[in-house]
Amino acid sequence: MSTAKFGEYGGQYVPEALMPAIEELTDAYERYVLDNEDGFMDEFRERLREFGGRPTPLQHAEQLSERYETNVYLKREDLVHGGAHKLNNALGQVLLAKYMGKERIIAETGAGQHGTATAMAAAHLDMPCEIYMGRTDTNRQRPNVFRMRLNGAEVTPVDVGRGTLKEAISQTMRDWAKTVETTHYVIGSVVGPHPFPKMVRDFQSVISEETRQQLREQTGQLPSSVIACAGGGSNTMGSFHKFVDDDVSLFAVEAGGSSLAVDEERGVAPNSASLTTGTEGVLHGARTKILQDMDGQIMESHSVSAGLDYAGVGPELAHLVETGRITPATVEDDDALSAFHRLSQTEGIIPALETAHAIAWLEDATAEQLGDRVVLTVSGRGDKDLETVLEETAARDIPDGPDMDVFSRNGGINE
Ligand SMILES: *Cc1c(COP(=O)(O)O)cnc(C)c1O
Repeated sequence: MSTAKFGEYGGQYVPEALMPAIEELTDAYERYVLDNEDGFMDEFRERLREFGGRPTPLQHAEQLSERYETNVYLKREDLVHGGAHKLNNALGQVLLAKYMGKERIIAETGAGQHGTATAMAAAHLDMPCEIYMGRTDTNRQRPNVFRMRLNGAEVTPVDVGRGTLKEAISQTMRDWAKTVETTHYVIGSVVGPHPFPKMVRDFQSVISEETRQQLREQTGQLPSSVIACAGGGSNTMGSFHKFVDDDVSLFAVEAGGSSLAVDEERGVAPNSASLTTGTEGVLHGARTKILQDMDGQIMESHSVSAGLDYAGVGPELAHLVETGRITPATVEDDDALSAFHRLSQTEGIIPALETAHAIAWLEDATAEQLGDRVVLTVSGRGDKDLETVLEETAARDIPDGPDMDVFSRNGGINE
């Protein structure tokens, strides 16, 4: 039996109508994922390899190593099919749905990254797929809407409220409650009711499993520290899980947005740093650290990076921070933008804006925190962020930013 709690956090805070689905999923998680029944995990690994492009490299980054006077290794999840670590989880859950005899996949998406990964996995495994997305987000993220549709998924805009992720999640929950017999809901991070936080962590643990083996091969040793950015926390838990019992320092970097000041009275958080500025509460089926106002309403959060902009965080991550095993850190928008340009220029890797937060934190970390062998997970590539980055860089004074004139009309070619 796997327990639903991580200390005070986690649990299964769901409406009665969803309990049968949660129980069925818990049973399937224990049999197929934990016990490898019918060779589920073998097939999952094989598909990660053939379809997902794993294992991803663990690359010694020469320029970063020189700059920080240590050895910096980049775990290249940006090279996973689809351009981010998200496929690891989506593929695992869609395959599990198949083993469970489900006939349909649903998911919600905010920026569209999780929806895209789910649509790819569903097409690969020949499952019909419906993605709920807030109306505002469908307008903001056109390319991802096209990607999902190209993969054969139905994208259903949600018109309720502000038309963003929160409303899309509620809509997906309602669909699931009505269709549990035939449908699996693919949650996109280590959040939600048990068994999702553990299951998603286990699917993403391939990151730390490979890292461990690759660094052993390259140096014969374990990392001294591992750094990863945290939105919901799937990249962090996947990057950390296989090191939790070892003498390895773990740093989860959250989005500090424009400021760490939270106005609980007005219900505004100009950041998405739930581990650092949040308080205990229940969100999306689990007790965890969340950004809430004095009445317990979820606050509007902010980050320049859409993938980190979530008002909660995985319960296991919240627990491991509370017990002191994981150290939380924050990086503000400007510094993340600066790091985006720095990695692009020094290593030839254009990172996702989410990842840029982890890169930026290297500037703040002490030599003692980092140690001799630093592993940093590049959770995704930055192609999806180019427009945002160019706009935001032009609007601010970003150290290490490029000369913005070269991005003027015609790329500056005729001038
Ligand atoms: C979605 C996303 C994240 C944040 O989600 P987690 O669940 O915290 O991993 C980080 N990096 C990239 C590239 C993403 O797409």
